[in-house]
Amino acid sequence: MKYVTEFRDGVLAAGLAEAIAREVEPGRDYAFMEFCGGHTHAISRYGVADLLPANVRLIHGPGCPVCVLPVGRVDMAIRLALARPELILCTYADCLRVPASDGLSLLKAKARGADVRMVYSAADALALARREPGREVVFFAIGFETTTPPTALVIRQAAAENLRNFSVICNHVLTPPAIDGLLSAPAASGLSRPRLDGILGPAHVSVIIGSAPYAFVAERHRTPVVITGFEPLDVMQAVRMLVRQVDEGRAEVENEYTRAVTTEGNRKAQALMAEVLELRERFAWRGLGELPASALRIRPAFAAWDAEAKFGLEDRPVPDHKSCECAAILCGAKGPTDCRLFGTVCTPETPMGACMVSSEGACAAHYNYGRFRDQPAAP
Ligand code: SF4
Repeated sequence: MKYVTEFRDGVLAAGLAEAIAREVEPGRDYAFMEFCGGHTHAISRYGVADLLPANVRLIHGPGCPVCVLPVGRVDMAIRLALARPELILCTYADCLRVPASDGLSLLKAKARGADVRMVYSAADALALARREPGREVVFFAIGFETTTPPTALVIRQAAAENLRNFSVICNHVLTPPAIDGLLSAPAASGLSRPRLDGILGPAHVSVIIGSAPYAFVAERHRTPVVITGFEPLDVMQAVRMLVRQVDEGRAEVENEYTRAVTTEGNRKAQALMAEVLELRERFAWRGLGELPASALRIRPAFAAWDAEAKFGLEDRPVPDHKSCECAAILCGAKGPTDCRLFGTVCTPETPMGACMVSSEGACAAHYNYGRFRDQPAAP
């Protein structure tokens, strides 16, 4: 299939691996963070790290939207769903399994009588509200800039139809402030973050926002960014571009994913987001702590469709499970196997932390594709 098989070609991958090995300086270490969970998944699935020289390290970043959602926001949705069983709370499948306080999750709240349902899209949630005019339908919306336009669109549609039984808990977060937070502030976990020589910029997010918003990373933090697609050859090509920038002492924003990403991004989607949503002053990220202007809320003009305003919901900060290392993993301070719970009590079937829930989470990706590589080969 065009645009898939070409980017998974093993012969080309081997050639790229040789080229990278030739180009790296032997006495130098290169540490690149893949910001996006989609890249984390692809790197684990295709064994990209194994194709790179030993002195080129890929570090998982905080780009999995399920992983960075703090416990307090999930608790908020659970409290609402349990307190008002007549209401339907719907969200994406992965959100249902994110561990919350008191051993609960949205799925477990459903077992306790809350009407919690899985939807595939924001449009499904809106359609549910149309089908159930006698019930309140609340959509628990998460994601980076990729999934934000569909959320903005359903809010605008609900307003246009004056559909008063529909509202949204908006948890949408923004990529550039998270990269800024990663490169500037100390880790929320108290652990020192690794030195980063470059960032593999996200793919889908950049389709929406374009490459221009990353300019500050190169200018202010003197850190190269290469926006890249999700296929293994995309990632390897981006690593090669980052290696070249480091070797040449450059810090620029480059775009490997030119087949989908432009400098200015999708202007129509940006205008839709700006019409319906506005910046929150602060938002607490799992692993990164509170970051200013890093998340979105619903504008007052659409307050009737803002579940936080409609139901007087309170955002109470809650610490992660004591033994869970998700916070350290999300800021690059630790890897999945540094967690004592990895693969024993914490598995994709029994997640103790958010990083084990979604296939884009670092722990789930390593559990599914990488854990056998940790074991020594049989003699
Ligand atoms: S293995 Fe589980 S508990 Fe440990 S960091 Fe990963 S998700 Fe959190």
